[in-house]
Amino acid sequence: MPASQEKGTVPVVCVFCASSPGIDPVHLESARKLGKSLHEAGYQLVYGGGTMGIMGEVSRTLVSLSGPRSVHGIIPRALIRSEKDPNARENTSTSNGGPKRAERTMSSEELQRIDSNEDPDAQIVPESEFGRTTIVPDMHTRKRMMANSVQQGGPGSGFVALAGGYGTMEEVMEMVTWNQLGIHQVPIILVNIKGYWNGLLEWIKTAIREGFVGEGAANILVEVKSTEEVIDALKGYQVAPGRYKMDWS
Ligand code: AMP
Repeated sequence: MPASQEKGTVPVVCVFCASSPGIDPVHLESARKLGKSLHEAGYQLVYGGGTMGIMGEVSRTLVSLSGPRSVHGIIPRALIRSEKDPNARENTSTSNGGPKRAERTMSSEELQRIDSNEDPDAQIVPESEFGRTTIVPDMHTRKRMMANSVQQGGPGSGFVALAGGYGTMEEVMEMVTWNQLGIHQVPIILVNIKGYWNGLLEWIKTAIREGFVGEGAANILVEVKSTEEVIDALKGYQVAPGRYKMDWS
């Protein structure tokens, strides 16, 4: 976002987390607790859209407390279709069996209704439960839109990660990279429940020790151990001194 673009006053958080529920209920519980903290602090949420897993739970919780206008989901077309057709993805919460892929049986008319998410009778992601949904063509558009929303948010805006898989890891690390490159200076908070992210935090220490990440970039990603610490971490975030001074305007 160009530096001159006007910022809002309401803080916006983008939550990265799993599109599956995980096995230990502590992770779904952390989604509910984060939703409550966001409500109490008057935050708006932007997330990857949909109803599934930990992502859906954060959204559902905040909408139930702050109303549908507090949440904006941004989801690529292929993923919203997979909400309707769960066989299109493997159920990651079970440990046995491989991907269960089925031939699509949806008619083109049904696909069209799904793709709009505007028809209240056909809505896959109901606005009353999950807030506003924007359907985008691809993952890059989604990520750019989510990042723009945060950058345009009021003081205390930032990215927050709960537990998740490859998708969550990639989203977090992309925002860390953008911060290091000077594309943004937005807080990135890692909620390390039950030591879930210990491996990543350990890797950062190794990368610093081996000379691949500068010490001044060590704190781009800030760890908290409970959802209750998230808002303070966002508001008290210190921009890392070792970011690159690049001009992206
Ligand atoms: P993961 O941590 O691997 O579960 O990835 C989280 C990411 O899952 C999201 O940001 C999406 O890119 C992706 N994703 C997969 N299925 C869905 C879905 N049905 N709705 C929304 N996002 C999904």
